[in-house]
Amino acid sequence: MTAILIDGKQLAFKIQDELKFKIKNHVSNLRRPPCLAVILVGEDPASRVYVHHKEKVCSEIGIKSKTYRLPSSISQDDVLKLIKELNHDQAIHGILPQLPMPTHIDKVLIVGAITPTKDVDGLSFHNQGRLSWNLPSLRPCTPSGILEIIKSIDVNVSGKNAVVIGRSILVGLPTATMLTHAGATVTTVHSKTNMPNEICRSADLIVAAAGVKHLVNREWIKKGAIIIDVGIHRTPDGKLTGDVNPEDAMELASHFTPVPGGVGPMTIAMLMKNCLEAYEHRFI
Ligand code: NAD
Repeated sequence: MTAILIDGKQLAFKIQDELKFKIKNHVSNLRRPPCLAVILVGEDPASRVYVHHKEKVCSEIGIKSKTYRLPSSISQDDVLKLIKELNHDQAIHGILPQLPMPTHIDKVLIVGAITPTKDVDGLSFHNQGRLSWNLPSLRPCTPSGILEIIKSIDVNVSGKNAVVIGRSILVGLPTATMLTHAGATVTTVHSKTNMPNEICRSADLIVAAAGVKHLVNREWIKKGAIIIDVGIHRTPDGKLTGDVNPEDAMELASHFTPVPGGVGPMTIAMLMKNCLEAYEHRFI
């Protein structure tokens, strides 16, 4: 068997095109464009690259972006003060604190300070609570992207056995919640799980978000399983790879998301979708 590679880049382009069209309509009705405020604290190289990607896609589809590049010496109070100002600024529709932040800044406080209707990362207590209740909300971007990817291959997850590897508030937990709401029987495995490979081997769908390079190999994969690889790692020769051994996945899975070009672009597309939703929410 050779797995079908799922082209997350193409899917993201399609979604972004639809968003671009909607934004153009708003602007032609003399509304100002949506505006995303990004807060980047410190010099973390990966964060700078992610922020650059976000700015680029914003400009491609007509979302204004304003990046606040702050020194790592900035105090937590000053970041909170900025968030308060952005919450009240009518011209700002989405607020995104780029994580991780320096250790003296408590991310729980930062995320919690954002007005839920501007919380385009979907991480606040309010939005995660609404997600648990399966009520409309701004959903976390990577899990939303994963669900869109699954929808795109026309697979109904209802009744399927899904395993999510990882239990972070950013990826693993909300993905497990969203798959559960979609009708899957979900098992979450994490760093304390015994024999995670055996649990995964019974899964129809695996979402790998452990942050461990090539953790998932042929010992973990049932023939014909769908595999979504969330991990991002840089190899010594500068290439990107994921949490799944790509050769083993290609040989055994029915569908597989590559790294790069799978979940990554969809995460950004879902961020853009959330920005537009936050913007349109103001007109409801
Ligand atoms: P995290 O470090 O917050 O969480 C990792 C989780 O994996 C933890 O819950 C931990 O218990 C679990 N884990 C660690 N080692 C494990 C093991 N050996 N077996 C089973 N579980 C294990 O990371 P995160 O923020 O959830 O991100 C996970 C990965 O996804 C990282 O590589 C990150 O770079 C990537 N990521 C990619 C995107 C994207 O858009 N593609 C977005 C967010 C995160």
